[in-house]
Amino acid sequence: ANAIMSGLGTTVFEVMSALAREHKSVNLGQGFPDDKGPEEVRRAAAEYLLDGHNQYPPMMGIPELRQAVAEHAKRFQGLDVDWQSEVLVTSGATEALGDCLFGLIEPGDEVVLIEPLYDSYLPIVRRAGGIPKLVRLEPPTWRLPREELAAAFSDRTKLILFNTPMNPCSKVFDRDELEFIAGLCLEHNAYAICDEVYEHIVFEGARHLSLMTLPGMRERTARIGSAGKSFSLTGWKVGYVTAAAEMMRSIAKTHQFMTFTTPPNLQWGAATGLRLSDAYFEGLSSDMQRKRDRLGKALAEIGFGVLPAHGTYFVTTDFRPLGFNGTDDDFCRDITVNAGVTAVPVSAFYDDPVKAPKHFARFCFCKNDSTLDAAIDRLGRYF
Ligand code: GLN
Repeated sequence: ANAIMSGLGTTVFEVMSALAREHKSVNLGQGFPDDKGPEEVRRAAAEYLLDGHNQYPPMMGIPELRQAVAEHAKRFQGLDVDWQSEVLVTSGATEALGDCLFGLIEPGDEVVLIEPLYDSYLPIVRRAGGIPKLVRLEPPTWRLPREELAAAFSDRTKLILFNTPMNPCSKVFDRDELEFIAGLCLEHNAYAICDEVYEHIVFEGARHLSLMTLPGMRERTARIGSAGKSFSLTGWKVGYVTAAAEMMRSIAKTHQFMTFTTPPNLQWGAATGLRLSDAYFEGLSSDMQRKRDRLGKALAEIGFGVLPAHGTYFVTTDFRPLGFNGTDDDFCRDITVNAGVTAVPVSAFYDDPVKAPKHFARFCFCKNDSTLDAAIDRLGRYF
């Protein structure tokens, strides 16, 4: 009965990080920053712990963090959020996704998803009894195929789940695309789960817009964020969901029996982070943009085809110009073992890897200059 889960392999991030450790490669696979994160955020968490806040916090999250999530939504998206009934703290965006999917999907419901997609989405949708309807974006523009998306919706659609800014292809959905998605949700009376963990990692010209701000979407969108991404603290696993009270009731019911709660000191630290100045958030984006440029430019000089990256920690590259003839899995293993640099195969972000593009490798650039330069040097000598 559990074939859905037991049939799965190990997540690509763990597989590639284990291989990176084994071969002592520079790991530009799994997305985690070298940066230690803002000192005041780390101090706030440490002091709260030392002060003795170490018992179960409230199930919905500590009030300070829920208030900070609501204030942050107002500051960056103009959203009016009731922190008491519309905000839930979770153990990472990963739990938030699980709570939303298990809370909202009934067996047999159709769920629209956009490929390439983050690897936790499909197993949970299926485990919840959802029937995935996949719509694929095509490189290098990753433009939304509107007719196909419209055709994926039906009167059986319960929800659409998508991610912007988007991992792995670094697309940032624009207002037009979001309006199109919103129109379909309204027409088919569907929910939207919007994974916005990279909301503060967007580059020149692009601006992150939350689907929840569009007309008619306030009542039917669950918006997911992550302190891991916004404060470069991926090991913390503090996430948050914002959703209208009625939707939230189902999501919170799931949360109460998944984790019930999240460590209080990390919640306190995340609250401190969400209250940082605009300058902090602008600095995060501009730092990442500089890193993107450092890595992207060097990879292009080595001979990779480098696709545009408008947000996230990642850049997608085409390795065919280097003369490599194997698959993306082969390529990522080859450079880990023989060049000492690790990347992640992009086909891992597709339902059926056989029908996925097999010539893209995703490199993570949220690293110190010295790490990036070491990777560049090794790849330069290898190719
Ligand atoms: N989100 C990170 C990435 O895409 C990894 C998260 C994980 O390891 N599960 O690389």
